[in-house]
Amino acid sequence: MQLPLHIASITNTWSQLMALMLDVNVTSSLATINWDNLNSSVNGKLFQYAPFARACFKDAEGVVGAYDANACAFAQAHYSDGQYRDTIPSSYQGLQWETCSSTGESCLLDWMNPLNEAAFAYPKACQQGSIPAYFLEVQSASDVQDAFKFSVETGVDLVVKNTGHEFQGRSARPGSLALWTKNLQKIAYEPAWIPTGCEDIAPRTAVRLEPGITFNDLYAFGEANNVTLPGGSTPSVSATGGYVLGGGHGGLSNTAGLGADRALEFTVVVPTGDVLIANACQNQDLFFALRGGGGGTFGVVMETVTLALPRTPIQVVTLDGLSTDVNTTRAFWKVLVDNSLVWANAGWGGYAAATSLQYINPLPISEEDAQTSMQPLTDFAAQLGLTVIHEQYESFAVFYQQILEPLYAISGFPLSTSSRLLPAQNFETPESREELLDALLNASANHSLTYVFATTPYAYKADNLTSVTPAWRDSLLLIEVLDTLEYNTTASEQREVIEGLSKSMDFLRNITPTSGTYFSESDLYEPDHEKSFWGANYEKLAEIKLKYDPLHVLDCWHCVGWKGRSDQAYSCYP
Ligand SMILES: Cc1cc2nc3c(=O)[nH]c(=O)nc-3n(C[C@H](O)[C@H](O)[C@H](O)COP(=O)(O)OP(=O)(O)OC[C@H]3O[C@@H](n4cnc5c(N)ncnc54)[C@H](O)[C@@H]3O)c2cc1C
Repeated sequence: MQLPLHIASITNTWSQLMALMLDVNVTSSLATINWDNLNSSVNGKLFQYAPFARACFKDAEGVVGAYDANACAFAQAHYSDGQYRDTIPSSYQGLQWETCSSTGESCLLDWMNPLNEAAFAYPKACQQGSIPAYFLEVQSASDVQDAFKFSVETGVDLVVKNTGHEFQGRSARPGSLALWTKNLQKIAYEPAWIPTGCEDIAPRTAVRLEPGITFNDLYAFGEANNVTLPGGSTPSVSATGGYVLGGGHGGLSNTAGLGADRALEFTVVVPTGDVLIANACQNQDLFFALRGGGGGTFGVVMETVTLALPRTPIQVVTLDGLSTDVNTTRAFWKVLVDNSLVWANAGWGGYAAATSLQYINPLPISEEDAQTSMQPLTDFAAQLGLTVIHEQYESFAVFYQQILEPLYAISGFPLSTSSRLLPAQNFETPESREELLDALLNASANHSLTYVFATTPYAYKADNLTSVTPAWRDSLLLIEVLDTLEYNTTASEQREVIEGLSKSMDFLRNITPTSGTYFSESDLYEPDHEKSFWGANYEKLAEIKLKYDPLHVLDCWHCVGWKGRSDQAYSCYP
């Protein structure tokens, strides 16, 4: 995958960009709505926000903000800076969700070279695309209650927008009101936590956190409190938000479970207006739904309590510098496929692509045992004149900061993906492994990037209170094939890319008919998505949706009980 140009950092002021947050009259189609009433009931926390690159455009249609050369230079310098993007309400990390693909309305820079004037010079005009018409900075449950009431009274669509990492545009929608939760930033250590209202439950070490806390914040907080707080790969992703609500995988998931497994309690405002606590003892149905049923569907989560694990050293193996020629990739992935079952049972998990691997093991094994179990990889690397590096890190967070973060820090470019969970039974015989390897190579051919994620909760003993597809539990790998898009890729070209990814993924779907995939990192056109994301849990989820959102105030693409492709809400989808 090509990375964006590095541009010298320009010391422009943050306040200049903030100045683009203007309170001006809304565009015509929304002008009849009385936004002032909502704004007064939420004490002035309603605002419009200019698209991220607004300041670069001399011409604009229906957006707030103004051309400003200095602010433009700042936006160009930070175009792929995920953590900076987190702070901008109108910013989406998958850039196509800032646009309306079907009409071509957009306000994007060329992410490969943000200085490329073709993207923003006159007569190109900056347009709102799928960026919500208004944002409400959520500070309390009553803000959410007011927004639900407003939506029911006016028919204005709502979306929940946190750090904007959603791959399927679920936190963007033209003409909508976005409940922006990123500034909910509290985090607290709970050394002896008992679920609210529960009796006879032994206290556990936990952390209570609001949705604006990212992995970057979480890992640092864990270090400061001498605990391990597992999570995902990219520092700017919210540690709860859509991650936990959709499932949430990471390098420690094999032994520590998914984000949804570790979520012990939610405080949530449901569309009926109630503020509820959901845990193993109360509102258990909602607890089940929030542990994997998907974000933006059952309510707005204000706070999550998540399990904290002891801070322990981890064994790490890394391999880098593999060539991308197909024979090398085949030989490398053969080692992964042949050893996945043994490695998962031994506690290993992590990340691989065609050219590199980072695997970790948090179990108390010696360095010698780690080397023995990774011998097939060492032998393979030696044949190519490469070395597998074995190290012990004092904690997952230290490993993350030194190894993973530099690899995954970049965000903020348009991307499409397709994915599949690979069940252990496909790894059982030499024949099934060979078939799997062929399918994997076919699925990845001609795409920008393939991730081989050993991030399934295979060795983790789960309770039966999560709603992710059970396919997660007996799978050894999650495969993701990705293609990047250009800033000016048209809707029909996007469709072609998405269909191409989907067709490639059929190689894996065909040999894993009972499996499924990850709700948050799937094909935009995932076939039979209800079965694929939730399996046998779907019917129960649909009932829970009706109970807590009978008026269907919340809706999103391929979410539980969604209104379907033809709904106006999805008019911008390619
Ligand atoms: C660069 C990148 C790296 C990623 N790495 C990983 C990874 O390592 N592991 C992994 O499992 N996933 C990963 N993801 C996927 C990520 O977990 C999902 O996209 C997730 O939905 C992002 O949630 P968000 O709240 O940060 O984003 P948003 O786009 O703001 O929200 C995503 C969804 O969650 C809903 N939502 C957000 N906050 C709330 C809330 N408080 N209450 C109710 N609904 C809410 C939104 O409505 C939307 O439907 C990655 C994504 C990207 C783009």
